[in-house]
Amino acid sequence: MTVLTKFRRVYLKYSDVTIDKNGNCLRSIISAMINETLIEIYELLLDRFGPQHWWPGDTQFEIITGAILTQNTSWANVEKAIANLKAADRLTPDKLHHLDVSQLAELIRPAGYFNIKAKRLKNFINWLFDNYEGELTDLESMNTNQLRVELLAIKGIGPETADSILLYAFERPMFVVDAYTARIAVRHELIEPGADYEQLRELFQSNLSEDVQLFNEYHALLVRLGKEFCKPKARCPGCPLEKLPHSLDIEYF
Ligand code: SF4
Repeated sequence: MTVLTKFRRVYLKYSDVTIDKNGNCLRSIISAMINETLIEIYELLLDRFGPQHWWPGDTQFEIITGAILTQNTSWANVEKAIANLKAADRLTPDKLHHLDVSQLAELIRPAGYFNIKAKRLKNFINWLFDNYEGELTDLESMNTNQLRVELLAIKGIGPETADSILLYAFERPMFVVDAYTARIAVRHELIEPGADYEQLRELFQSNLSEDVQLFNEYHALLVRLGKEFCKPKARCPGCPLEKLPHSLDIEYF
């Protein structure tokens, strides 16, 4: 795993600590320090912003639909698309399965990229019907990693969408990361610039206890922070994380 700069210094500081040939002692020291930093960030954000009540949605399928529609658009636009699906009484796997992709595209038009997103939603529905008779309940008993592999194999479902579905619709302990998470983690030297999705997810996933409610709230709080303070042009004065070490050497757009 990519390790933050200051924790590399810890490697040096504790280099005389007895370790086994796999470096296990150092790893546990560093992991404990990362955990402490991640928890401090979480508590500062929760103190400032309070619970975010994610993910908004009345049903499991509505959450999945929202996760597929939310890419590259605001949540307000997703809400309009979901409202259209509800008004047309189409927001169930079965009803969408029988809907033509062009009709679906028209209903979700407010979400933007509606032709692409209609195909993605249909791909999910087709996978559900081809493999699980359209029953979301059949997925409940699946092992989380297996379900993740299957979701990622659906055309148009990337890691952020798959992990959002796992965490928010199926309540599995899967940490969701996004561009906001990357920007904040790099500026706070939690990870090196250029870290990919899996490295970023691993940073949080393996250094926090696997707690669905913690992962749920943490991701939502990072999104709030990214939208209000840690924008491409950072607004550090007054930010909840202002007192923590950070660097703006890396530019984000
Ligand atoms: S705005 Fe500044 S203090 Fe706040 S999270 Fe971003 S880099 Fe950190």
